[in-house]
Amino acid sequence: MEAKSQSARTKVVIVGGVAGGASCAARLRRLDENAEILMVERGPYVSYANCGLPYHVGGVIEKESSLLVATADTFRRVFNIDVRTNCEAVWISPDTKTIELRHVETGEVTSESYDKLVLSPGAPSVRPPLPGIDLPGIFQVRTVPDARAIREWIERGSLFLSGMDKYSGFQTVRPKTRAVVIGGGFIGLETAENLVHRGFDVTLVEMLDQVLAPLDQDMARIVENYVERHGIRLALNDGVAGFQQAANGSLEVLTKSGKVHPADIVILALGVRPETALAKTAGLAIGERGGIRVDEQMRTSNPDIFAVGDAIEVRDFVTGEWSLIALAGPANRQGRIAADVIAGRESVSAAPRVPRSSGCSCRGRLGWCQRKDAQAARRQRL
Ligand SMILES: Cc1cc2nc3c(=O)[nH]c(=O)nc-3n(C[C@H](O)[C@H](O)[C@H](O)COP(=O)(O)OP(=O)(O)OC[C@H]3O[C@@H](n4cnc5c(N)ncnc54)[C@H](O)[C@@H]3O)c2cc1C
Repeated sequence: MEAKSQSARTKVVIVGGVAGGASCAARLRRLDENAEILMVERGPYVSYANCGLPYHVGGVIEKESSLLVATADTFRRVFNIDVRTNCEAVWISPDTKTIELRHVETGEVTSESYDKLVLSPGAPSVRPPLPGIDLPGIFQVRTVPDARAIREWIERGSLFLSGMDKYSGFQTVRPKTRAVVIGGGFIGLETAENLVHRGFDVTLVEMLDQVLAPLDQDMARIVENYVERHGIRLALNDGVAGFQQAANGSLEVLTKSGKVHPADIVILALGVRPETALAKTAGLAIGERGGIRVDEQMRTSNPDIFAVGDAIEVRDFVTGEWSLIALAGPANRQGRIAADVIAGRESVSAAPRVPRSSGCSCRGRLGWCQRKDAQAARRQRL
């Protein structure tokens, strides 16, 4: 009897343990007490609040532990879920329904079978191969270790030599530390806001002629006026060409127009790209926008493999076109839909509406809609 119920257990492997992956795991356990659930996460933490990372950098969220919604141990104890951190899924063999896992620190490779597989690998930050991009002092804000590295760099402080060459002999007033944030999207703006909060002199460099690209331009102007009033210097319409180290050890950001922005710290916020390397090992269909293609039940082109979150393409609610939406709300919802479907429910995804948790004001949401309406209208005329 015992042996029979064991063999009837569905084994679900979930890749990625943050927004979509963790939501899927928790929901699945609520729906199915017997399922064998394994969640693997490449990084050291699961289920943390990426949205809070810029605010941890700024000191608004003081403790790192406040970012951790649930630990791996919570998942094990409360949900009876096998969680493996520092564990990267490296290869899927759909024919044998197995997945290879590599321990990030030891390099040891093991193999696990699955009945159903859920991919929620997210979307890594874009990091173009620009000259000098690997210089010390250039960071991105994506994970808890990223935020920790930025805070450590800032707190080390003594490295910041800006202005000391102007020492007059009478006083050693330290000038403001200079930060250059590259990219005027949500994460760039949030990070800039937080660096101002920490007392930095902040320049934000953006290739387009406006911040927050999804907004209509008149709406973006309202945001730009607001951030400038709060002391952020905007350098719009200018792409970054590279980085170099100044004679005093600080950084210089070189732009395509020939400008040089001095910096003691540089934050890259150039957007994200769907993580599809693992999906490609299984031969899953990838869409025209570069995300994993799924149906409205989050099934990929292989019916036993589901995908959710930043890595997938979804139909835009207004334009009907395939689009990429890198936001936590949709990722959580999609994770729960995948769990429902695996547990035998008929949940489907409605195309996401204009997201509410984008950190933008109601004016911003309106601007986004108008632009999308225009896109939809253009499409109708075709
Ligand atoms: C700084 C920042 C601020 C944000 N602010 C907001 C906000 O205000 N509002 C909002 O809605 N959204 C915000 N987002 C976006 C939101 O966090 C994401 O949309 C959401 O986390 C996506 O969920 P996901 O599960 O697809 O990916 P993630 O939450 O990124 O999780 C993917 C995980 O998969 C792991 N992984 C990848 N490949 C593998 C592999 N092969 N094996 C094992 N593990 C793997 C990664 O290490 C990663 O931890 C923010 C994101 C960032 C970085």
